[in-house]
Amino acid sequence: MRVLVTGGAGFLGSHLCDRLIADGHHVVSLDDYSSGRPENLRQLEGNPRLHALRADVRHPIELAATPLDGLDRLYHLACPASPTAYQRDPIGTARTAFQGTLEALELARRTGARFLLASTSEVYGDPEVHPQPETYLGHVNPIGPRACYDEGKRIAETLSFDFARQHGVDIRVARIFNTYGPRMADDGRVVMRFLASARRGEPLVVHGAGDQTRSFCFVSDMIEGLTALMEANEVQGPVNLGNDHEVTILELAQAIIQLLRSGQPIEHLPEREDDPSRRCPDMGVARRHLGWMPSVQLEEGLAHTLAWLEGRSPAGSNGQ
Ligand code: NAD
Ligand code: UDP
Repeated sequence: MRVLVTGGAGFLGSHLCDRLIADGHHVVSLDDYSSGRPENLRQLEGNPRLHALRADVRHPIELAATPLDGLDRLYHLACPASPTAYQRDPIGTARTAFQGTLEALELARRTGARFLLASTSEVYGDPEVHPQPETYLGHVNPIGPRACYDEGKRIAETLSFDFARQHGVDIRVARIFNTYGPRMADDGRVVMRFLASARRGEPLVVHGAGDQTRSFCFVSDMIEGLTALMEANEVQGPVNLGNDHEVTILELAQAIIQLLRSGQPIEHLPEREDDPSRRCPDMGVARRHLGWMPSVQLEEGLAHTLAWLEGRSPAGSNGQ
């Protein structure tokens, strides 16, 4: 098939390109390299079925700029993803979420491609329902520092469903929960931040008391989930993709200190504004409709990620 991956040089996008190329597809990665890196696609250099296009998804996407003569699948991932990155230029983030998704959907409409949006658990905000099922409508502060991203992804979902209703575009919406692994940049997100600090012998900095929770999914599981969702038939609404093993941020810090046997102290900074206090996916829809469940345990995924950081393994999503 002919596949476009926006954000293809990013963390998830590059693993997705690996997988699509391995499956025999013709792939174009579209990326402006604002947070992604050309190195993330280096392993595919010289592969005639991979074409890397530098472009900003907020501008109309011309298929003519690619070697593809049509499009069968469009994975739309381009968007700053870490709180540090998306809050650096919040208006730009909101534009990427809205205009970028609009341009990607327009291309899907013109070409008849099936479209998958990389949405996020952030659409649930600081949830009052736990774990979060897809039917939960969320609890988002529309004027806070996270809103450019949270509300951005919410309008991106709205656009996707309106393109399905109004133009008959075949859409999939993945609500991705915190995912980590090799190639993830040290961009402020907690797993890479803690691993980087522990390796440098610096204290691990926890915001607030550290009793807020997240549920971390290893990248190989997420890529499996994304491709399964794209190829599934009869998917009506959004689908949570993630791991439902929930840990506190303090437990994550302790697991990383134990993994490195580094004995670092943990320091506390004030809690971040609007930081969700609990987050864990209800995985019922993914299990029933995709037959998919993550399989990599946190300790195993952290060990793979550490091995990659230490140069002991290449950046494959399974650490091999
Ligand atoms: P990432 O920062 O590594 O990837 C994002 C990619 O999009 C980068 O390569 C970046 O250069 C590119 N990009 C950003 N703005 C662009 C623009 N205007 N035009 C073209 N390219 C642009 O982050 P990631 O973790 O790989 O996230 C990928 C997608 O998955 C994002 O949409 C993110 O919101 C979503 N997501 C990720 C997670 C996670 O835990 N990793 C969780 C929820 C949702
Ligand atoms: N966090 C932390 N120390 C850090 C980075 C993050 O305590 O160095 C906390 C953050 O406050 C949040 C959680 O870890 O409660 C996850 O943060 P991240 O930025 O990875 O992503 P989020 O899930 O908030 O989008």
